[in-house]
Amino acid sequence: MIKENYFEVNEKVGKACDRAGRNRDGVTLIAVSKTKPLEDLREAYEAGARDFGENKVQELVDKIPQMPEDIRWHMIGHLQRNKVKYIVDKVYMIHGVDSLRLGEEISKEAVKHGVTVRILIEVNVAGEDTKYGVSPEEAPQLAIGLSKLPGISLQGLMTIAPYVTDPEENRLIFAKLRQLAVDISEKNIDNVSMNVLSMGMTGDYEVAVEEGATFVRVGTGIFGERNYEI
Ligand SMILES: *Cc1c(COP(=O)(O)O)cnc(C)c1O
Repeated sequence: MIKENYFEVNEKVGKACDRAGRNRDGVTLIAVSKTKPLEDLREAYEAGARDFGENKVQELVDKIPQMPEDIRWHMIGHLQRNKVKYIVDKVYMIHGVDSLRLGEEISKEAVKHGVTVRILIEVNVAGEDTKYGVSPEEAPQLAIGLSKLPGISLQGLMTIAPYVTDPEENRLIFAKLRQLAVDISEKNIDNVSMNVLSMGMTGDYEVAVEEGATFVRVGTGIFGERNYEI
């Protein structure tokens, strides 16, 4: 079932690219495998998935050595500063950077491990109280602060859109994130690029692609519902 789901999501991403006149290569589908057992990840891998997303440090470090080495691991959840050291040299990208202090910790650990870590600023576009992320107004200042830190490469923005039943309701959110990336890139900050937009989940990834997403993060649509009890 996971294979079929993966193919279907992949195809829908392709169709959304067509509608938007975008190149399919410009969008990467991240299979969000949090809470799922390794056998499920392997099935997605066999279907072609090479980008996996996890939101818990412990789960990430458990899974990485048990899966093929050509996987790019994405840390998509809220990251505590004291856990940065466990993942800094293991992940392809950290999506949820929402403070300079977290950026400084990532920088410190990256330098210690001799790596450069790709990061995204998490922006709370809708201003929901329950979400992490900086406001759109704070994002440019944070980008400037992060740009000065060694060992990190700020590549773009990430957002978690509100949970909605009609994905069209989030179109404006995605368009705002894209515009914010344009505004920040026009500041020509050294060492900062705004080429990456991580936005869109199971409920709204097609709209996100139409609005410029370069990474979509799909969990339920590939692996089925999550059961947090087990
Ligand atoms: C869980 C999660 C997803 C995937 O959510 P689905 O609705 O299952 O596709 C995407 N992004 C983040 C940050 C998540 O925590």
